[in-house]
Amino acid sequence: MDFQQKGIIDLDYVPGQLSLAYKKREIAAYQQHVANMLRYGYDKLSFMDSKETHERLGADFYYGGIRDTGTGHINPLKLVVGLANLASKAGAQLYEKTRATAVRTEGDKCIVTTSEGYIVAKQVLLATNGYDLGLQRFVEKYIVPIRSYIGATAPLPIDSEILRGGEAVDDSRFVVRYFRKSADNRLLFGGVESYDRSVVDHLAERIRAQIIEIFPKLGQIELTHCWGGTVAITVERMPYVRKIMPNVIYCGGYSGHGVMLAPFMGKLYAESILGKGDRLSLFKELKISSFPGGTALKAPLLWVAMRFFALMDRF
Ligand SMILES: Cc1cc2nc3c(=O)[nH]c(=O)nc-3n(C[C@H](O)[C@H](O)[C@H](O)COP(=O)(O)OP(=O)(O)OC[C@H]3O[C@@H](n4cnc5c(N)ncnc54)[C@H](O)[C@@H]3O)c2cc1C
Repeated sequence: MDFQQKGIIDLDYVPGQLSLAYKKREIAAYQQHVANMLRYGYDKLSFMDSKETHERLGADFYYGGIRDTGTGHINPLKLVVGLANLASKAGAQLYEKTRATAVRTEGDKCIVTTSEGYIVAKQVLLATNGYDLGLQRFVEKYIVPIRSYIGATAPLPIDSEILRGGEAVDDSRFVVRYFRKSADNRLLFGGVESYDRSVVDHLAERIRAQIIEIFPKLGQIELTHCWGGTVAITVERMPYVRKIMPNVIYCGGYSGHGVMLAPFMGKLYAESILGKGDRLSLFKELKISSFPGGTALKAPLLWVAMRFFALMDRF
């Protein structure tokens, strides 16, 4: 938000988020959440009945929900490129396509071995999140990688009734469906996940089926792009921030919420190594449980658990 508001990086920021109830029985909890947040002093939430939800969404698929005007959505690629440019201008040296293969400490130095050579540093931040390119063993008990996929439609007609207010949407399913419109009026739609390393079959068809379920009028819409990536989840769905050896800190496990959380952790990490406070410690103190099953059984157990909860979305 700071980057956008202060004009430092243009992020295509659009305000507004709708969190929508997929099951009628969830409505009371949504209403309660608005009341709870008000008690904590957050007054940007309002409860939407089914009529308001249908009008804002442009479809009558959900039973109601919450509108949050204190948040919004951005183009994450613009954030990545903007941050890289800012860091570079500030003197950071960026090495793309350079895999770190090991980290160790010697006295008060940290040594990072990479595919291209090694780096000696006073401090190391491991920000590899869910990608297992050689360093995941430090955190593998607490972090599980899952794959998440998204698709982009061809641009919608300019007079489309879908999300006229420009908000982003998330729903109440365990395998959450989330969507928004891009700056060029495409519908960006996520809702397919996989829990192993296999490639998802028929991705475009699966995403299109989810879109049509909500917006039947988009039956013929073309999906021009589909892609996916790895996110890291924790048991509690809260970030895993820990010192894993002297002067080496891991920040990750954002559980699908890292677009905002990862840069924020970077800010807190910078504060702590510059001696400007230690807000990062608040996150180090969060209790994060290890996944059951140990190294051998963790992945199959997770697969079964995720499939079970995905099945429960249907009832
Ligand atoms: C389809 C999809 C949709 C998503 N939607 C949202 C959303 O709506 N909102 C939200 O908040 N988040 C969303 N996320 C999650 C979000 O993208 C992540 O939480 C965020 O990118 C985490 O940022 P990060 O910098 O910690 O890690 P990443 O962006 O995962 O970056 C980690 C980097 O580390 C590199 N790396 C790993 N190991 C090594 C190594 N050994 N050596 C060198 N480099 C290494 C990787 O190549 C990667 O570039 C989504 C993710 C996907 C895939």
